[in-house]
Amino acid sequence: MITEAMITRAQALVDKNEVAYVNTNGNTHNFQGKGHNVGKDKIYIITAEIQQNNEIAWSCDCPHAQFNDECKHGLACQILMKDKELRDEYKAFSNEDDGRDDRHLQDDKLVGKIHIESDDD
Ligand SMILES: [Zn+2]
Repeated sequence: MITEAMITRAQALVDKNEVAYVNTNGNTHNFQGKGHNVGKDKIYIITAEIQQNNEIAWSCDCPHAQFNDECKHGLACQILMKDKELRDEYKAFSNEDDGRDDRHLQDDKLVGKIHIESDDD
C-alpha cells in the first residue's frame, strides 16, 4: 500500500537527487538509488519494466523491496519518470522491419519471374 508518508519520502529522494535515471533498454527504464547504510554508500538498482498492457512492473534491490510490493525508490522513480517525460507505453521491438525488407525482395523476384513467363507467351 502506498501511503502519503511514502510519497513524501519519495519526493525527498528526488529533491535530493538520491535517485537518478540511467538509461532505457527496450521496454525497461533503469534507475539508480542511493542507500543510507551508515558508513558505506550502497547503490540500489531500480528497474521499471513496461508490460504489454502498459502497466509498469517495478523492481528495486533494496532490502525493503524484498518484503514489500512498493518501496520509496520505485515511487521516487515514478516521479522522475513524470519529470523527465519518459515513455510509459509498451513498444514492440522485433525484426519486423528486416522481415519486411526480405519479403519485398522476394516480391521483386516473383514479379520478375512472372514477367519472364509472360514474355514466353
Ligand atoms: Zn527500494
